[in-house]
Amino acid sequence: MHEMSIAQSIVDIVEKELASHGVEQLKAVNIAVGKWAAVVPEQLAFCFSMITTDTNMAGVTLNIREVLLGYTCSICGEEFTSGEMAIVCPKCGDTSIALTAGRELTIESIEVAD
Ligand SMILES: [Zn+2]
Repeated sequence: MHEMSIAQSIVDIVEKELASHGVEQLKAVNIAVGKWAAVVPEQLAFCFSMITTDTNMAGVTLNIREVLLGYTCSICGEEFTSGEMAIVCPKCGDTSIALTAGRELTIESIEVAD
């Protein structure tokens, strides 16, 4: 399962962060997921809660922000975003477009419990 391995790597990264900062109690983890990563947010959140159940991260909320796909047209220079895979530039209609955003899966911030 795609989401399970992603959830596991998020947990691994966050645990390292916690250890290096001496933090014990977390409130939430905020991540950004590009549409290209083909992640189902609900499934990812579910996997995350399953993995963390018996750890010190139990009950931590995983907030997922979806990032739209971003493109740049190499013919006219038009930059545009799309929720779907784009094939042509909306301005000049050429197919020479490059994906510039939407592949990423990043941990944006970690919220520590008071
Ligand atoms: Zn164009």
